[in-house]
Amino acid sequence: MLHEHIHHIGGYKGAVLGISWAIYGIKTYVDLRQLRRLQDPKVTLPVSIKGHISDDEYTKYQAYGKDRSRFGLVKGLFDQIVSTVTIVYDVLPKLWAYSGHVLAVAGLASAGELAQSVTFTSIALTSSTILGLGFAYYSTFVIEEKHGFNKQTKALFALDTIKSMVLTVVLSSPVIAAGIRVIEWGGKNFVLYAGAFVLATQVTFVILYPTVLSPIFNKFTPIEEGDLKTKIETLAKRVDFPVQSIYVVDGSKRSSHSNAYVTGLLGVNRIVIYDTLIEQMNHQEILAVVAHELGHWKNNHIFRSLLVSQAQILISFWSFSHFLHFQPLYSAFGFYSQPTVIGFMLFSYLYEPIDFLSTLSIYRVGRYHEFDADQFAKKLGYGEPLKSGLIKLGKKNLKNLNPDPVYSAFNIVHPPLAERLAAIGKSNI
Ligand SMILES: [Zn+2]
Repeated sequence: MLHEHIHHIGGYKGAVLGISWAIYGIKTYVDLRQLRRLQDPKVTLPVSIKGHISDDEYTKYQAYGKDRSRFGLVKGLFDQIVSTVTIVYDVLPKLWAYSGHVLAVAGLASAGELAQSVTFTSIALTSSTILGLGFAYYSTFVIEEKHGFNKQTKALFALDTIKSMVLTVVLSSPVIAAGIRVIEWGGKNFVLYAGAFVLATQVTFVILYPTVLSPIFNKFTPIEEGDLKTKIETLAKRVDFPVQSIYVVDGSKRSSHSNAYVTGLLGVNRIVIYDTLIEQMNHQEILAVVAHELGHWKNNHIFRSLLVSQAQILISFWSFSHFLHFQPLYSAFGFYSQPTVIGFMLFSYLYEPIDFLSTLSIYRVGRYHEFDADQFAKKLGYGEPLKSGLIKLGKKNLKNLNPDPVYSAFNIVHPPLAERLAAIGKSNI
């Protein structure tokens, strides 16, 4: 059996496997660098954080980091094996045929490519969630639990998993169906139509996320009347943010990691603060974090990120247009027709190196935005409370205190704490 399959690997299949393992190799090398750094007793905290974090807290950070890092390595290997098996054993054409079979059993044999594509992606997405379930469980109930972050019950975990599986299928199906139609209608010019379609979808999600999607998982309570509310409103007014509502979200029912965000796109103007943030910080620090978030809004960071990703999407569609009707690619993976959704998946395999590089560039943009938002908060007079707030966040979240620089550039949007503190500490110019 195996011998027979190995025999067919060559050409595009071989190229895809080579690309996939090469990128896996790079990612693993970077992860191992981080693990080695966490294990190295000679690596100590950078000067800018040294006085603020005790040796005990630093030891906790290293222990948590090591557990997360080893977990990531095992999960990475597992995912890599799954995708290799998928390619080597022609799982995709089998799943495609199975989707047709499911439709036939349901009496929808004549439903066509669109229905088969939606069925196929629904089965694929659901199976990948199920395959990752053990890891999600281990991450929450073993690692997070061990380090005192987990607040989630098993019942809530199960409910979350079911909700997000249903939501994934419900939301992805119409998007995939519409996307395929747009590519068909667009014909030779589909690149521009598909780009516009993706933009419209992204904007829809930006609107739906705070108003519809997030409340499915969390409870949003308007902030109680009082000192903190007045202070946040005054701050919003100072920067001309037309705040409609300030919510406190019950992040604490899942985890003690804390956060805050501001949504200010297309008329949804809200400030959202995690209840954990309110527990962990004083008013000045909360205001400093909100000022940072308002900085993202004021300087159009979301809009700019959308522009960057839009440019990348157009480039990828343009590249895809060269493969959409390229039968040798389909044949290499065991397909004798050219379903659009399959074409896009196969193309994505080949495109992985470029996609990998674009992700790195998105991280770079993200980091620039973080420094920019920190400066914004500083100019409003929140430099010092922002620093102490960030240190508290760093301690509480045990993340990003002293990462390997290569690892940090490859994996984290937020610049390391020490770099942020140093940047806020510099003179006002
Ligand atoms: Zn930020």
